[in-house]
Amino acid sequence: ICKTADDVRKIVKEKNVSFIQFWFTDVLGALKSFAITPDELEEGIEEGMGFDGSSIQGFCRIHESDMIAKPDPTTFQFVPWRGEGDRPVARMFCDILQPDGTPYEGDPRYVLKRLLGQVAEKGYTFYVGPELEYFYFKNDQGTGILDKAGYFDARPMDMGGDLRRQTIFALQAMGIQVEYSHHEVAPSQHEIDLRYAEALNMADITMTYRMTVKEIAHRNGVYATFMPKPIFGENGSGMHVHQSLFKDGKNAFHSKDAKFNLSDIAKHYIAGILKHAPEIVSITNQWVNSYKRLVPGYEAPVYVSWANRNRSAMVRVPMYKPGKEAATRMEFRAPDPSCNPYLAFAVMLGAGMEGIENKYPLPDPIEEDIFEMTPAERHNKGITELPGNLYSAILETEKSGLVKKVLGEHIFKEFIDNKKVEWDRYRTHVSTFELENYLPKL
Ligand code: GLU
Ligand code: MG
Ligand code: MG
Repeated sequence: ICKTADDVRKIVKEKNVSFIQFWFTDVLGALKSFAITPDELEEGIEEGMGFDGSSIQGFCRIHESDMIAKPDPTTFQFVPWRGEGDRPVARMFCDILQPDGTPYEGDPRYVLKRLLGQVAEKGYTFYVGPELEYFYFKNDQGTGILDKAGYFDARPMDMGGDLRRQTIFALQAMGIQVEYSHHEVAPSQHEIDLRYAEALNMADITMTYRMTVKEIAHRNGVYATFMPKPIFGENGSGMHVHQSLFKDGKNAFHSKDAKFNLSDIAKHYIAGILKHAPEIVSITNQWVNSYKRLVPGYEAPVYVSWANRNRSAMVRVPMYKPGKEAATRMEFRAPDPSCNPYLAFAVMLGAGMEGIENKYPLPDPIEEDIFEMTPAERHNKGITELPGNLYSAILETEKSGLVKKVLGEHIFKEFIDNKKVEWDRYRTHVSTFELENYLPKL
């Protein structure tokens, strides 16, 4: 594991590296990459490499398409599935700069860094542990499953076990700590859980994880997808995000004698997430398809609420190890794994910090199954709903001063414009549902 530019120079020479890939992320969370040869490394490290950003989603601005990708040497790793024999390939994540060397505000990594910097000034470090679920299908043309196993089923029912194993080895080779992996509830659905880490590092890791899962599947002739709800009638794929804030080396969410070990800071943070959830979900759940997952009956949240155990709740406070300081955290269950992790972590942190700064009061937990309640019961308990589709979500976001502040004007506008176009294409297209239901009757 290397840290400095000098380490990178040394390793590239010693290991006879053939290419160094520069990785960065567009506004919608797609990983972008270009490769340089070792001859270019010196310039790349010192000044960054220039590229034309005009075709990158969310980067385009008519007069400003010249961009610089400046690698972050602390992220240097070998790409385990690439490189021949004794000529390995390495990668670094990049910050995107403008030609004058200032950060480019269309760079999602910068959005997260900027907020983490502001939060660090208040003494906090933000830790996150995302749980990404995904499906293996025979190919990307349909939802042909590889197995019919279910939650925590062991082999040989679980055909994905081998793929998960290879994936974990590849992740570990890139310095990523894996906690455990298992078959998920739906057929051919899987989950590999990572050890929690500081948020910027974890956003990079999340990008690497998705790439690795897909790459290993591809190498084995199958297809892995993070699409939130590929199969109607089965669980969708979520990305629950466990979150905590540390201050002076201590978990600021932990209070030894409090209920659920939750400190006041933690309660205000959760209250912030609850209050702002409707305006941030367009970022954490950014596709038309994302809202097909957020429906009753599939362990995904629909209503704004929190609880200790209840899996219909939007926020859960897990208590696997009561009293253990480092383990005290909140789990936000709305996000799905096809989000942009930099932006998603940023808006969640932004919402939680609003709660802390304005000392939002935390409503009571709801431990009953909310899906079983009547609308009147929900109303009486003050339980509200998350937006039911991408368009409602975008309208909430558009009104949000918080999201605008966190994302910055540029990404805020690009994102909303882009999503309105997506919604319009969806709204105007004629679906199989309509043909099947209306054509025979009308
Ligand atoms: N797949 C469920 C979701 O859509 C979550 C299942 C679980 O609790 O891990 O969020
Ligand atoms: Mg899961
Ligand atoms: Mg979970």
